[in-house]
Amino acid sequence: MSARPSVVIVGGGIAGLAAAWELTGAGEGPSDSTPRVEILEAAAQLGGALAGADFAGRFVDLGPDGFLARRPEAVTLARELGLDDRLEGIAAAGASIWLRGALEPLPEGLVLGVPTDAAALKRMRGLSWSSRWAAWRDQHAPRRLAVTDDVSIGAILRTKLGSELTYQLIEPMVGGIQAGRVDQLSAAAVFPALYEAAQRGGSIMKALRGAAGPATGAAAAAAGPLFMSLTSGVGSLTGELERQLRARGVVIRTATPATALRSAPSSPYPWEVDTAATTTGATAVIVAAPAPTAGQLTAHLDPHLAALSSVDSAGAVIVTLLFDTADTQLPPTGTGVLIPLGSEWGDDVMMTTALTFLDRKWPHLRRDGQILLRAHVGRIDDRRSEALGDEALSERVIGEVTTVLGRVGRPLATRVQRWPHGLPQYYVGHLDLIERARQALAPTAIRLAGSAYDGVGIPASIGSGRRAAREVRDLLNVDAGGTRRA
Ligand SMILES: Cc1cc2nc3c(=O)[nH]c(=O)nc-3n(C[C@H](O)[C@H](O)[C@H](O)COP(=O)(O)OP(=O)(O)OC[C@H]3O[C@@H](n4cnc5c(N)ncnc54)[C@H](O)[C@@H]3O)c2cc1C
Repeated sequence: MSARPSVVIVGGGIAGLAAAWELTGAGEGPSDSTPRVEILEAAAQLGGALAGADFAGRFVDLGPDGFLARRPEAVTLARELGLDDRLEGIAAAGASIWLRGALEPLPEGLVLGVPTDAAALKRMRGLSWSSRWAAWRDQHAPRRLAVTDDVSIGAILRTKLGSELTYQLIEPMVGGIQAGRVDQLSAAAVFPALYEAAQRGGSIMKALRGAAGPATGAAAAAAGPLFMSLTSGVGSLTGELERQLRARGVVIRTATPATALRSAPSSPYPWEVDTAATTTGATAVIVAAPAPTAGQLTAHLDPHLAALSSVDSAGAVIVTLLFDTADTQLPPTGTGVLIPLGSEWGDDVMMTTALTFLDRKWPHLRRDGQILLRAHVGRIDDRRSEALGDEALSERVIGEVTTVLGRVGRPLATRVQRWPHGLPQYYVGHLDLIERARQALAPTAIRLAGSAYDGVGIPASIGSGRRAAREVRDLLNVDAGGTRRA
């Protein structure tokens, strides 16, 4: 009798956990053909960027606080885990932007920050006449730009809409998602709708209109909430997955980084994965660790895999703050504030790139008389926060928050969470780099998963993990029985 297939998953972030969930039968549960699954996680706990903590008497997320709900992956996983009754729709809409020293509501109809109607910018006092003219021009007499190969988001936007709209209005949103710069981020990988619009030619504002989706009214209500969270915190997905995966017999080893991966032609299993103390035989391996780790583990197999080590990542810091409503004032509506890079602060520029009003977005976090907000700090080219200790960074952030909101008391509680390499950067050419790496692995039973490959964000990471697991399941079915069972 041949040995039971064994799958090793390197990395216990949400992508690796979703892969294990899929391999062990997802919502259906394990069957006779379920392989042995072992997760190796370098950190002391699972979850990667999904983490939370007790803060001021409630569980508060310190990484992602919600996920896109109009993509199915995260909502589906939560439902499969039996968490339907904890799903919570976002309870606020809109946001403000800090422009020329004042807060302005963002207009409706933006697609990742790109306006879709020049008229919507008319009321924005913080924008110059020339930037409103640039929007009008794109709508009525668009500039020509030949786009054939991948190009940066910034290269398209600067030509079509000019520098001011690019850096003051659009970069804070599209760059903010992965703490990157529009002049480095790949249009094809990060903003395919913009890339396709630029390739077609004509007005990008008009071309993106269809992508805006309903923001308000009956159509928006019918589409359901744009974002969702869990009343137990997004981070609770990790604990629930861990509990249910252990019950399915998945072996979970935390504080145990994978140190090497190699083919093992003379052993019962074709692959072996080393940790500092052990070697595990594997029929297949899913590498769901960050791309540079995947590059280190697989570089010896093909030079295109070594190139994964070049995928850069941005650090981010989340500073969570609790204020008394009596001495702190928020804009009347909206989920938060975007702060363009280079916004002046005294004789320096701000480190804070965005504020999120957590208890406006998520009803379960609300408490009478309190305001719970978080500040996002850092970009790929702004590492100033690393030079400051937690206390000094909090004081700096409180100073910047005071400038932006106007009236802010002393915080009742503060928590600093650093994510040194939290957000992979999809630079120009990223899709080719990933495609070449995946092609190099295609003849093997090694698959890649995670936020470096198929999109940044929880739904994309879950989808990436589950896709890798389905591919592995198909390989196992062929290898184990000689014929495909599924
Ligand atoms: C501050 C912040 C805010 C965010 N906000 C949102 C949001 O609001 N909504 C949203 O959808 N997304 C958000 N994201 C993105 C989202 O968190 C990620 O897309 C997702 O969590 C990535 O999951 P992953 O499993 O691909 O990677 P990770 O979470 O990075 O997991 C990879 C795991 O691999 C482990 N590892 C590394 N090396 C090894 C090794 N040698 N052996 C074994 N294990 C190893 C790591 O310790 C880690 O646990 C945010 C991210 C950050 C950092």
